[in-house]
Amino acid sequence: MLYNSTENKNEVVSASQAIAQGISKDGGLFVPQELPKYDTDVLKSFLPLGYKGIAKKVFADFLTDFTADEIEDCVEKAYTAEKFGSDNPAPIAYKSYNGNDVNILELWHGPTCAFKDMALQILPHLLTKSLKKTNDGKDAVILVATSGDTGKAALEGFKDVEHTKIIVFYPVDGVSPMQKHQMNTQEGGNVKVCAIEGNFDDAQTGVKKIFTTPEIASELEKNNMMFSSANSINWGRLLPQIVYYIASYCELVNDGKISLGDKINVVVPTGNFGNILASYYACCMGLPVNKFICASNSNNVLTDFINTGVYDKNRQFYTTISPSMDILVSSNLERLLYKLSGDSDTTTKEWMTALKTVGKYEVTDEVKDAVKSAFYGGFCDDVKTKETIKKMFDEQGYLCDTHTAVAVAVYDKYVSETGDKTPTVIASTASPYKFSRAVLEAVNDGRELPDNEFDMVDLLNDITSADIPKPLSSLKDKKARFSDVVKVDDMPDYVLGALGVK
Ligand SMILES: *Cc1c(COP(=O)(O)O)cnc(C)c1O
Repeated sequence: MLYNSTENKNEVVSASQAIAQGISKDGGLFVPQELPKYDTDVLKSFLPLGYKGIAKKVFADFLTDFTADEIEDCVEKAYTAEKFGSDNPAPIAYKSYNGNDVNILELWHGPTCAFKDMALQILPHLLTKSLKKTNDGKDAVILVATSGDTGKAALEGFKDVEHTKIIVFYPVDGVSPMQKHQMNTQEGGNVKVCAIEGNFDDAQTGVKKIFTTPEIASELEKNNMMFSSANSINWGRLLPQIVYYIASYCELVNDGKISLGDKINVVVPTGNFGNILASYYACCMGLPVNKFICASNSNNVLTDFINTGVYDKNRQFYTTISPSMDILVSSNLERLLYKLSGDSDTTTKEWMTALKTVGKYEVTDEVKDAVKSAFYGGFCDDVKTKETIKKMFDEQGYLCDTHTAVAVAVYDKYVSETGDKTPTVIASTASPYKFSRAVLEAVNDGRELPDNEFDMVDLLNDITSADIPKPLSSLKDKKARFSDVVKVDDMPDYVLGALGVK
């Protein structure tokens, strides 16, 4: 299977090149030229395989320049019971909300307690193998812009991985205290963490700029290094996410919740559009999906886009209690637009250029219709998010995090608007303990809160009896190693300095 850039069809690469490079030289994103097709018989053959078995099948279909042994090695190293708490890294919690069944796909049982682990525990293995195939002997420099969870998950995945170095930038006031502490205490000899004065979009734009500056690339080249990306624009991030939608479907069938061939809805709390795009790809491959419900917080640029066909990032930016969704430029939307415009690189490039220059574009009527028929967009503010956490906890004794609560609230709105009772999977993207303050404010009935993050964790545990994930409780006694803060314009210098090439 070959991949090409969304902004230049003539840029054609192998899977390992796509993963090693991360982003195309022209600034476009790599997409597979065709998708494997999974009919009901194929899905039936997946039913007894378990998560890792399904992952191996899906990876083999996409990574055609990997050997079966290499794929086996990547999957077995990534999804261990030791790292994910059990042999099923993505279990489903069967709950109900406001009288409707919800199947909550818990994607946060990995080492950093957010769904990013699902991809970032395997990406380093995919990447080091890809580098061996494509770039003899060069070290990979991973640059990450994070709204909180990616940074830590990437650091955990790449720490002390041979022939890699990783530098993470996060918005200084845009992540939760727990997320900040998780990153600043990161261990490993090849890691750097730095805050920037700006928001997530500034960090992401800064990283994209560094990637595409030829002088910086040649400086690295001289020192036998090359850039690669662990951001959700890397195909190696998206592919592992396709797996859990297929696996969760199989789990619903195995648990007797649906019959093979039945359609499901998928609800995803969305930021960069990677997670929901993975479910869309799974559907293009044959997974029976009725509707993709795209849930946003007050940064509702995607809700407006789905409803109007106009993407306009010129709007107020809100810092919310679901910070991993505080995003105005959803990078992975580019891949959807490419697909829906009939694989048109010129059209995609036109829209993306407009986004860069005027911050806005409007898609054609056909694309508008295609988006609307597949997706439902909705959003929910912080007040509603907390109400949802409280209601879910009161009704079910189930504690969900702020991002998951946005998804539950938008799903509730969808059902009341449409009456659609299709069985539904809701992607749950983080442990509630990563966002203790907001979750506590939702459930503690107005009592005063302690200042210290770990005291809040303990209080939340007292009130709810929900288990505290070990990776979070063990952070308590760790000292911060990193405290750098730089201006966006100084990011290139910081990178060269951190790599010791300037
Ligand atoms: C990253 C993240 C999201 C958004 O996912 P995208 O793939 O960027 O749309 C949602 N919730 C949490 C907790 C996250 O870490």
